Parts: sequence; structure tokens; C-alpha cells
Amino acid sequence: MRWSLTIGRFGETAVKIHVTFLLLLAWIGFSAWRQQGAAAARDSVVFIVLIFACVVLHEFGHILVARRFGIKTPEVTLLPIGGVASMQSLPEKPSQELAVAIAGPLVNLAIAVVLLALVGRIDAADMARLDDPRVSLLARLAAANVFLAVFNLVPAFPMDGGRVLRALLAMKMGRPRATRIAAAIGQAFAFGLGFLGLFGNPLLIFIAIFVYVAAAGEAQMTAFHESARGLTVAQAMETRFAAVPAHAKLSDAVETLLATAEPEFPVVDAFGKPIGLMMRRDILAALKDHDREAAVADFMRAPIETLRATTPLEAAIDRFAQQDVAGLCVVDRDGVLVGLLTRQNLAEMMMIKSMRPDWRFERSRA
Ligand SMILES: [Zn+2]
Repeated sequence: MRWSLTIGRFGETAVKIHVTFLLLLAWIGFSAWRQQGAAAARDSVVFIVLIFACVVLHEFGHILVARRFGIKTPEVTLLPIGGVASMQSLPEKPSQELAVAIAGPLVNLAIAVVLLALVGRIDAADMARLDDPRVSLLARLAAANVFLAVFNLVPAFPMDGGRVLRALLAMKMGRPRATRIAAAIGQAFAFGLGFLGLFGNPLLIFIAIFVYVAAAGEAQMTAFHESARGLTVAQAMETRFAAVPAHAKLSDAVETLLATAEPEFPVVDAFGKPIGLMMRRDILAALKDHDREAAVADFMRAPIETLRATTPLEAAIDRFAQQDVAGLCVVDRDGVLVGLLTRQNLAEMMMIKSMRPDWRFERSRA
């Protein structure tokens, strides 16, 4: 995710914070300072750091349950509405997805119960005054954890409640349809939230936009998967493109760039096997500090991952979703380059499928 800073690493998971999370913290600190002065601002900052710690614990609730199902989480990003753990795959069974999704809010509820036991006395009026420094820190932290649990259980992507809802629906109807329904509910919720924001807290509008975009993204990803079902990489890949030989020079790369309209060029060895990938911007960047005779091997991207032409297209979509790759080289049984799969190919395939769901794709080269 862009605009995020890595603040630490626990086990195999990097913890990142998104800039908007910091903006929210700054806004809370500033409003405390403006209303009650420096001491209140300091108190608020301590409070914020503690909430931040609870959000991290919430995420690790998800991550540890996911790990039980063999799913790794390379990073977790903290956003104003909570955290997003970038798990490498979805849990296979809906019951597993349910367990992973609900683990986070349960962590917050557990923290709240412990804190309330420490405070000893529950005053609902105090709990509602989250930003009032006169209320005990522990009581406010307990209230914040209840809020985190409840807010994350709202049935809208990307909140945990959206995943809980999808998991419950998926037990009855399969994941694609469950995602569509869960995403539609999420977007309806976002509209309602944005509408409330117009009359109340403008922060709600910001959250509503975020929820709407996330729900749309989740629905689009599922639509991608559905349009790709039953197809292989060979049926979607580019087969007419310029490949650059490994012994080529920068001047050859520039000529190829000008002669074609493509933004990416595979580099192949003498046997036609792909050994690297060059993007338009790599060639342009190379012009700055390489001369005409420089070998393409000096500035191409390598090593690269390849994909078999017979691979299901759905698996290729997951590769694009998980990694920031521009294009994947497609190879045959012998490792020889036979095609190139780009995000553009996937978009074209999806457009064709949305206009003609019954369209038969002829190519099936392996
Ligand atoms: Zn969560």
C-alpha cells in the first residue's frame, strides 16, 4: 500500500502505518491542545499511542489465527478505520475465513473486559467521553476498544464485519456471489455513513469514501476471478510483442521502444528463454547513466518470475494482486517464451467477458 511507513517487524510480519492514520492522530492531538492546552494534548498523545497498540494487537489476532491455517502475512498496515493485514491468500473454507475475521474484534473485546475489570466501575457516561482527559485513561481505553470491536464488525468491506458477512453467506452460496452481496451491502452502508457525515462529523464522509472504494475493489477482484474462470493464461496473453535478445545494447532497446507501442519488453537468451524484463521507464532511466553500447543485462529487471501458458488465469490474477509486477513472461514446457501477460490483457479479457459472457476463446497454445 502506498503512503505507508514501516515501524517494526514481528515474526514474519512487517508493521506499517498509513499516512492517513498519522493525520487522524495529529487531528486528535491538535483538537485536544486547542480545547484544553498542552497537558491535555500530551494526555491525548499517550492515549493515542495506547489505542495504536490495541490496533496492532487486533491485527495480530487475525494474523495468528491465519497462521494456524497456514496463511502467511508479510505486512499489516494501520489505517484510520483499523488495520489491514495483507494475507497471502484467503482462507480456503468459509469457516476459516470467519475465524480469522472475527479474531481481531475479539482481541479488542478481551482488552476491554480486562481494562474494565481493572477500573472496577463502569460508567456509561464516562465511556462516551472518549476525548475528555478528566475521565480515567483506562476507562477511555476500554471504551476505545469497544468502539474498535463494534466498528470493525460493521458488515462492510474492508472491515472485519464485511468478511464475517461474506464467510456466512459463502457457507450457503459460494464465495463469488457472497462477495457481490457483501460488497453491495458495504457500499449501501458507505452511502448511509456519508449521508450522516453531511449533517454531523465530516470524518464520516472520509470513512464512507474509503469504505466505498474498498467494497468496490473487493467486488472487482471477485468479478475478475469470475471472468477468468475456466480460462488459461494462453487464452489471455499477448503473443505479438517485441522481445529483446540478451546480447542487445541500450541503442537496440531504444530502437525497439520507438518501433513498438509496448511499455514492456521481455529479454530472452539464445534459446528463447526469458531472463529479464525491461519497462519503458527502465530504458529511459538507463539513458541517464549508460552509454549506447551498454548491455541490456545491466538495466533489465532480473531475475523474473515466469508463468506456464497452461496455468489457470485465476492463478495469474492472484500473482498480480499480490505483487507489484508490470508483466509476467509466459513460457512453454521447455521454458521458452511464448507470451506476455500484463494487467492490460486482464482488463481486456474482463471487458470482452462482460460484453459477451458466452464468448469462446480459440487460442490454447501450451
Ligand atoms: Zn480486523
